[in-house]
Amino acid sequence: MKVAVVGAGFSGLALSFHFLEKGAQVHLYDQKGIGAGASGVSSGLLHPYAGEQVRRSWKADEAMEATKSLLEIAQKFSAQPVADFSGILRKVDPKQRETFLKHAALYKDVEILNEEWVLIRSGIAVHSSSYLAGLYEACTLKGLVFFQQKIDVSAQLSGYDACVFALGAGIFSFAERDSGPLSQVRGQTLLCKWNLPPLQYPLLGKGHVVPLPGGKLVHVGATYERNSAEIEPCEKTAMSLLKPQMERLVPDWKDMSPIDCRAGIRVVRPGHATAWMYPIGDKKWVLTAMGSRGLLYHAYYAKAVIENIGI
Ligand SMILES: Cc1cc2nc3c(=O)[nH]c(=O)nc-3n(C[C@H](O)[C@H](O)[C@H](O)COP(=O)(O)OP(=O)(O)OC[C@H]3O[C@@H](n4cnc5c(N)ncnc54)[C@H](O)[C@@H]3O)c2cc1C
Repeated sequence: MKVAVVGAGFSGLALSFHFLEKGAQVHLYDQKGIGAGASGVSSGLLHPYAGEQVRRSWKADEAMEATKSLLEIAQKFSAQPVADFSGILRKVDPKQRETFLKHAALYKDVEILNEEWVLIRSGIAVHSSSYLAGLYEACTLKGLVFFQQKIDVSAQLSGYDACVFALGAGIFSFAERDSGPLSQVRGQTLLCKWNLPPLQYPLLGKGHVVPLPGGKLVHVGATYERNSAEIEPCEKTAMSLLKPQMERLVPDWKDMSPIDCRAGIRVVRPGHATAWMYPIGDKKWVLTAMGSRGLLYHAYYAKAVIENIGI
């Protein structure tokens, strides 16, 4: 079977890997390059308790396992750590603590440390650029062929038995996009020097701090700017949104001078906390709307799309 995957973010690389595993010949297309969209912007957090309400995500165990197995594969092909599996420290209010108490009893991957802090033991910080590079390398060794090319319509891709479009924000200019509602939420992160004692865990509350390998730098994220499709980063806006969050999350951190600011666009399906996959023709599928849960769902949905295509 000869397959085209369009979009080389988390979703497109997961699709490519799993198609290759099934013995398909895979061509991967991206208008810019590997990780050029939201996936390549910053280190991110992977855990099953997203959102203010800290509800356990749909299919959390299966989705976590699917991503973890790709992280393990990517690690084999990366000299840098692709992820930190030590857990995530979540700052909680009393209501969230209540909910976490129930999760702790049911799922055993949560430890209530005190009134303010919960340790999500299953939480993982993913170093996205190393993960993407490692996974791409794993795919290349299995025969993946990459083309830097923009695909505007599926008719451009002739001679393939199946095509999957995982375009991230590119979905908004894709001719065959389903008319269902999607929105764009800009996210910005700051790369900052860390001048406090080394963090044992990434911190999460309103905003997050992810220590990078070496302990001297952190990614601070991420803004959630609704209805913004501006891809140029704006450090001033990012600081104005993230600094107050950091003052609550890490009150001792007085000197938050950023050395870089990056932006990406999340694709969100309003009212839904999962991703979205749908056919647009015979063996032609779209995988989109990863929202803020791309790390949780990209591998799980990639496998689901391939199952539906029936390879
Ligand atoms: C600042 C920020 C922080 C985030 N933090 C987290 C986090 O902590 N945890 C988490 O789970 N998620 C997080 N997310 C969300 C996560 O990054 C996304 O859900 C995920 O990256 C989406 O992956 P994707 O592969 O679907 O899309 P993308 O990564 O956007 O990839 C799409 C690719 O398609 C290519 N493309 C688009 N149109 C075309 C076309 N017509 N032809 C060819 N190529 C095309 C683009 O160049 C791009 O490379 C964050 C997002 C942002 C912006």
